[in-house]
Amino acid sequence: MLPISYFCILIICNLLSYTSTILDSPIEYLKGVGPLKGDMLRKELAIFTFRDLLEHFPLRHIDKTKVEAIHSISPETEYIQVAGTITSLDVLGEKSAKRLVARLQDDTGALELTWFQGIHWVQKSTQVGLRYLVYGKAAFFNGRPQITHPELEPLGEAKTDGKPFLEPIYPTTEKLKARGVGARQIGRLTSALLAQVSERDIPENIPAEIIQSLNLTTRFNAFRNIHFPRSQEEYVLALRRLKFEEFFIAQVRLNMIRINRHRHSRGVPFLAVGELFNTFYHKYLPFELTGAQKRVLKEIRADTSRPRQMNRLLQGDVGSGKTIVALLAMLLAADNGFQSCLMAPTEILAQQHFVSLTGLLKDMPVNVKIITGSTKAAERKKILPALLDGTIQMLVGTHAVIEDKVSFKNLGLAIVDEQHRFGVAQRAALWKKAEIPPHVLVMTATPIPRTLAMTAYGDLDYSIMNELPPGRQPIATVHRFETYRAKVMDFVRTEIEKGRQVYIIYPLIEESESMSYEDLMQGYEQVKSYFPEPKYRISMVHGRMNPEQKEINMKRFVEGDTHIMVSTTVIEVGVNVPNASVMVIESAEKFGLSQLHQLRGRVGRGSEKSFCILLTAHKLSNDAKARLHILCATNDGFKIAEKDLELRGPGQIEGTKQSGVLNFKLASLVNDKPVLEAAKFCAEKIVTNDEALALAENQPLKAYLLLQKGKTAWSRIS
Ligand code: ADP
Ligand code: MG
Repeated sequence: MLPISYFCILIICNLLSYTSTILDSPIEYLKGVGPLKGDMLRKELAIFTFRDLLEHFPLRHIDKTKVEAIHSISPETEYIQVAGTITSLDVLGEKSAKRLVARLQDDTGALELTWFQGIHWVQKSTQVGLRYLVYGKAAFFNGRPQITHPELEPLGEAKTDGKPFLEPIYPTTEKLKARGVGARQIGRLTSALLAQVSERDIPENIPAEIIQSLNLTTRFNAFRNIHFPRSQEEYVLALRRLKFEEFFIAQVRLNMIRINRHRHSRGVPFLAVGELFNTFYHKYLPFELTGAQKRVLKEIRADTSRPRQMNRLLQGDVGSGKTIVALLAMLLAADNGFQSCLMAPTEILAQQHFVSLTGLLKDMPVNVKIITGSTKAAERKKILPALLDGTIQMLVGTHAVIEDKVSFKNLGLAIVDEQHRFGVAQRAALWKKAEIPPHVLVMTATPIPRTLAMTAYGDLDYSIMNELPPGRQPIATVHRFETYRAKVMDFVRTEIEKGRQVYIIYPLIEESESMSYEDLMQGYEQVKSYFPEPKYRISMVHGRMNPEQKEINMKRFVEGDTHIMVSTTVIEVGVNVPNASVMVIESAEKFGLSQLHQLRGRVGRGSEKSFCILLTAHKLSNDAKARLHILCATNDGFKIAEKDLELRGPGQIEGTKQSGVLNFKLASLVNDKPVLEAAKFCAEKIVTNDEALALAENQPLKAYLLLQKGKTAWSRIS
């Protein structure tokens, strides 16, 4: 009792000493803000307190002593700072075309300044005949340079002590600009704020040893210099420190969650590698495992040998051989007297897994059964009691596995294939299938970049299989314009003549969009005209079909009865038809990178050379061009995921959308990989050595984390 209350008092003392700072004052109390602007800052930029303003970082700095001549503006010019006299100021146009136009003249030429918003305010505060310093994005209109919504300030006495004067430029909004809180004015507020702040208000939160070994600038200096550096070097140092801090704090948190889970979860240990595993490994394994497969197996083995629950995510590119890893893990469970299950998102996939597993196990004494929505009642009646008495060792299936009626004797391992089709709730249902929760392995074929995995899944254990089995022929990928379709279909015909099968995919992004559905039907008719019955047979699958129709069509293709599969992206996940050697993707420009890669992964599964043909319209956006180019250049899912991250940013990547851990203000998962690696390394070391952050040197860090936790709980209530 005593130690706990003592601990609580310690926490409260810590909190008090850290919260009693000027930085928690409401923003309207800052000189120059007041209730009106305060309200705007809250609504427009989510700046509630002094601290929020301090953490509203500048986009860039401009050297105020560096003024360009107006005649030097060219179509290549982007942001520019000029100085001159306003020679005219007029409101032109009416209603929605209404705008304020000013002429700025310097010794070399004239520039037009235009405002569409805040006209009244700018007009009131600007005087013809006075000299102004003007900053903004230059553009050419009718051959003349102009700046829309420039930043304007009266030109004071020039500071010419030879040193640069770096002025911060902040993100702002049109509404705030119209109230005189523009990209520059925010700097004035921040400057006033910093004048009131001392080192005590911005205490260090990174342990001293790390500060020293990485040569980081102090937190206080970093905050001052990120806003008002006296040189470029000071700015760079401040930025480096703050980026590190962002990653470091996030990594400390994630590591604490992970370690805490390890500590408090219970699990069934698989103590021995036994007869079944060894017999299979030495006598039945049809190929040598790849290095990556061996490594992942070791990781699983290490996890499951402890009396705590394994919770591991396995990322393996399409075709990297995840199934055999799953089977070996299931054999390990069986050797230790535990049951296991393998769940897939669709009936076809479950069937395929069942066929693969039983095929691989041959005559080994392992009882494997399958249960899906279409399992007959009589069969079910046999399966359910056999699961309950432990006669069935491995169960393959769809969602049917997690139905209430399905009970195990002792489920020790649950494997979920193709993670993103399964919801969190469904996975959680697995936990309840045994008194002590089973080990869980989630397998996904959607690679995500390492930096993203480190942050989005940093609290999970995860394995990566980034190696394909040897001897695979890379899929040849080409981009063709739609006008080339007839030739593409000729090529498809020659492949069919050779006995191969072909996928033709249409981009039905939303299965409910009737427009795209029409496109699909038109496409189907077109394919039929190129490949007339009865010589050619075509399957079609789309989201509007009922499950039975889908299954029948899929089955015909899987069994080689049809030559062509016309489909929407429902085909995307996991299907294995080794004889299919061509993937034609219509309107490929409408798909995202990783989706295209997933689709392409449906071919190249057999010994024959495979092809992927990306058909597009002639008019393509730069992004679409970049995507097509990457796909044609590489087959490596991890490289593609990296590019996807570069092109789209972290918020859009599959599987991480809901994750709130990706909101870094300064650090970038694309550009700051080494910083993230360093932060992860340091965080892991600290948390492993001092899980409760009890050591004296970790107190500043602990206090900071506690404060942050409190902040999210109550400071945002408005
Ligand atoms: P995925 O990771 O996409 O689920 P699969 O497990 O379906 O991949 O494996 C794809 C194909 O590669 C299968 O035909 C499988 O038999 C084969 N395979 C897996 N591992 C190896 C290996 N180490 N050497 C050769 N072939 C392998
Ligand atoms: Mg698979």
